[in-house]
Amino acid sequence: MVYKRLSNCLARSLARCLLCGARAGDGGVCSACSQELPQLGNACVLCALPIATPGSSCPSCLQRPPPFAKVSAAWQYAYPVNHLIQRFKYHRDLAAGHSLAQLAAQQLGAPQQIPDLLAPVPLHWLRYWQRGYNQAQLIASAMGQHWQLPVEPRLLRKTSRTKTQSQLRRAQRLNNLLDSFTVRREIRGLHIGLVDDVLTTGATLEAVTHKLLEAGAKQVSAFILARTP
Ligand SMILES: [Zn+2]
Ligand SMILES: [Zn+2]
Repeated sequence: MVYKRLSNCLARSLARCLLCGARAGDGGVCSACSQELPQLGNACVLCALPIATPGSSCPSCLQRPPPFAKVSAAWQYAYPVNHLIQRFKYHRDLAAGHSLAQLAAQQLGAPQQIPDLLAPVPLHWLRYWQRGYNQAQLIASAMGQHWQLPVEPRLLRKTSRTKTQSQLRRAQRLNNLLDSFTVRREIRGLHIGLVDDVLTTGATLEAVTHKLLEAGAKQVSAFILARTP
């Protein structure tokens, strides 16, 4: 509720383009700037990684198909989207986040396979407390409003803090991540749309997807603002 009120209020206050200061429409970015945003172009049909061949999968998805059905990414993680995401995530620029989420929902268009609900990838409570908000929750709320889909901000909980993962082997990393998420309500037979800001390695998304499928979800797909190349 708070997020909904906050987004409505932010939407009303956005009259100037976040990037150039010119008059902007609903999205908070003027039409000239929105055409300059880094398009995804050819990307893996499963994980949205930018690749050269249209309509195919990237080598790692071919070798080991991911548990999720599909990742839909609005842009590549490049300037100025990366810059806006950082403003949103680390400098409390909620207006930038709201604009990006609205533009992403427009850019992606209504999902072809409509999820039963959207759920943000959760933050551990300590991170939440430090930041004051979960960026994925704000994005999910704006996307849900745009696509008229229910949003379940508390479907998932992050129960332990992720340790520094770089030293660990892949299997260990996945196990660590699997242990750190819990599903908090009945989701048997539902198609869950996970929402996050950026997708980099996909490890978190994979772990959360495993948890949701284990809990009986029929399918999991993901909607993100930007994909790292
Ligand atoms: Zn502009
Ligand atoms: Zn892929």
